[in-house]
Amino acid sequence: MKASQFFVSTLKEAPADAEVVSHKLMMRAGMIKRLGAGIYNYMPMGLRVIRKVEKIIREEMDAAGAIECLMPVIQPAELWQETGRFDKMGPELLRVKDRHGRDFIVQPTSEEVITDIARQELRSYRQLPKNFYHIQTKFRDERRPRFGVMRGREFTMKDAYSFDRDVAAAGRSYDNMYAAYCKIFDRLGLQYRAVAADTGAIGGDRSHEFQVIAEAGEDAIVYCPTSDYAANIELAEGLALTASRGAATQALAKTPTPGKSTCEDVAALLGLPLAQTVKSLVLATDELDKDGVVTKTQVWLLLVRGDHDLNEVKAGKVEGLKGGFRFATMGEIESRFGCKPGYLGPIGAKDVRIVADRTVANMADFVCGANELDFHLTGVNWGRDLPEPDLVADIRNVVAGDPSPDGKGVLAIQRGIEVGQVFYLGTKYSAAMNASFLDENGKPALMEMGCYGIGVTRILGAAIEQNNDARGIVWPDSIAPFTVVLCPIGMDRSDEVKTVAFRLYDEIKGLGIDVLLDDRGERPGAMFADWELIGIPHRVVLGDRGLKEGLVEYQGRRDEAATKLAVGEVVGHLK
Ligand code: ATP
Ligand code: MG
Ligand code: MG
Ligand code: MG
Repeated sequence: MKASQFFVSTLKEAPADAEVVSHKLMMRAGMIKRLGAGIYNYMPMGLRVIRKVEKIIREEMDAAGAIECLMPVIQPAELWQETGRFDKMGPELLRVKDRHGRDFIVQPTSEEVITDIARQELRSYRQLPKNFYHIQTKFRDERRPRFGVMRGREFTMKDAYSFDRDVAAAGRSYDNMYAAYCKIFDRLGLQYRAVAADTGAIGGDRSHEFQVIAEAGEDAIVYCPTSDYAANIELAEGLALTASRGAATQALAKTPTPGKSTCEDVAALLGLPLAQTVKSLVLATDELDKDGVVTKTQVWLLLVRGDHDLNEVKAGKVEGLKGGFRFATMGEIESRFGCKPGYLGPIGAKDVRIVADRTVANMADFVCGANELDFHLTGVNWGRDLPEPDLVADIRNVVAGDPSPDGKGVLAIQRGIEVGQVFYLGTKYSAAMNASFLDENGKPALMEMGCYGIGVTRILGAAIEQNNDARGIVWPDSIAPFTVVLCPIGMDRSDEVKTVAFRLYDEIKGLGIDVLLDDRGERPGAMFADWELIGIPHRVVLGDRGLKEGLVEYQGRRDEAATKLAVGEVVGHLK
């Protein structure tokens, strides 16, 4: 590729809304361009990286026996009603109507559609196992899109779905995908950790997340450096919460007067005493329609350590609570309650962690309480299936140095960016949608399913978080927009520079290496700054002076200084 025929557009300054280094650098390097909140144009330079990521994913998925298809972005609501997710999913699911007033959704994921395909196409055990995948645009109306492509609303995901005849076979499909993911993330050149994960809204009971290790990560992961134990902190801590989550789900189902329940009502429904050693402040949030009528009440628990009577909380006797929650930082909550906020549950545990050092207001339009003005909590979303209640368990804060659950050492904590997740789903979807096949005895049986996602566009951000320096991005070779850049100096003045530049360009290209010739006629300083910002891993500089001695300069993006190479050595050096 010649730079004059491509599109290079770099910026000196990042826009003010870019908080993390990857977002700043992607904007400055002209990889993406913002169109709206969490919605980006993938500019030519960025698209090349996306295509390379996709290619690696495709190759490894194909090698693992998965079969590519492509399911629509817009999906009829009926399928989502069959599984109940049309109603359950909350505002993250974008619902649209067509001209006839029929409901559709913009897909955030594709379990329903693939299960619909499977129930029509897979009729016999002889057709199993099957694993279908696609690489497709997703839309999730994220509460807080941020960090550029890392938490977009529109983004690209590779999602795969396996269908098996029984639990054992589904376990093999899961292991197969887990292994393929390791190969993919190895080839992407990322430093990552596979961690045990909570199964979340999708359900099922076995899951791992692939977390790219980076300070900017929204997730915290706990691991044991002296054993294989590694888990998302949500899971490590959330186990103790399972019971109270279950109780909250039931309460939600039973809340008699949505929007009107008091702390006592909710506490009674939850079976929570109002004063406990581990204090549970029950918060309710309402979803209102456009006329202000409550359509849904969602119950949240903010579980705090310490001694607080929910009645006192409700009566505003807890100093500073009234009206102050909306903009309270976690530190403020801590000082006001005299206790550490442990969780915002049921699914908020992670979010609290994320905002632990930021403002609660960042999470949403946050108001606390039990349906009295100044005591409300709004703008949060909760809509997942949770296990049956057992007991309200103690809260456990996992901290570094805690013993590892496997007894093989102590825990360490680091931050991660979730770039992929594998789930064993069991028959959750096949049962809801009646996706069955005939087994060897001619008897119908439900298909055992798994689902496997990779955040294609998020990978760009994650890779940059791990690979950057003061001058810009340092792409791993495997996904760099170009692998080599040739920078001729004074090509317009020197025939020799021009001749050698074009000859090297042809030779390198001939090797199948992705090379770019910078024929824009930029001054050396500007040219180098651009390619360092964009993050091209290998640079070859040619000028009159060096060529007189038959030399050019090679510099790897991570190298401190350039190395002189004979012109004849360049191609061999890049191979
Ligand atoms: P998160 O916890 O970050 O919200 P998720 O668990 O909701 O992610 P999954 O449903 O597991 O996401 O989707 C599979 C993959 O899609 C994720 O591992 C992640 O890499 C990617 N992904 C999810 N949400 C987004 C988003 N808003 N923007 C970009 N990529 C995303
Ligand atoms: Mg999510
Ligand atoms: Mg997640
Ligand atoms: Mg996930």
